[in-house]
Amino acid sequence: MDCIFCKIANGEIPTTKVYEDDSVIAFNDLSPQAPIHILIIPKEHIASAADVTADNSAVIAHIFEVAAKLGKDLGLENGYRIVNNCGEDGGQTVKHLHFHFMGGRQFGWPAG
Ligand code: 5GP
Ligand code: ZN
Repeated sequence: MDCIFCKIANGEIPTTKVYEDDSVIAFNDLSPQAPIHILIIPKEHIASAADVTADNSAVIAHIFEVAAKLGKDLGLENGYRIVNNCGEDGGQTVKHLHFHFMGGRQFGWPAG
């Protein structure tokens, strides 16, 4: 399958890794929108949040454990933002489930 995040997960494409374990990898976004902008992904190919099922949802809980660890390790005690873009209307451009972990500035709501 021609999936760029699968290639990052299996090491075919080099990236700035900030965390890795058996099921999850986190790496810096190529086009950061904040001083800290990390993508946290399951190593398993799940196309989007709309493809999460009872069979594969455990890794999502684990991703949020990793996010909490990153927040602590990076000293973001004032907070951060976790974003998932799902599908075309959600603005998803890479069709491998990923969570944007962003920090180091204040974010607006609903945009920005
Ligand atoms: P989406 O728009 O699908 O929610 O987010 C995709 C994100 O992946 C974007 O923020 C984009 O900058 C990032 N991205 C796309 N291709 C690559 C890549 O090859 N390497 C890295 N590190 N980030 C990428
Ligand atoms: Zn993939």
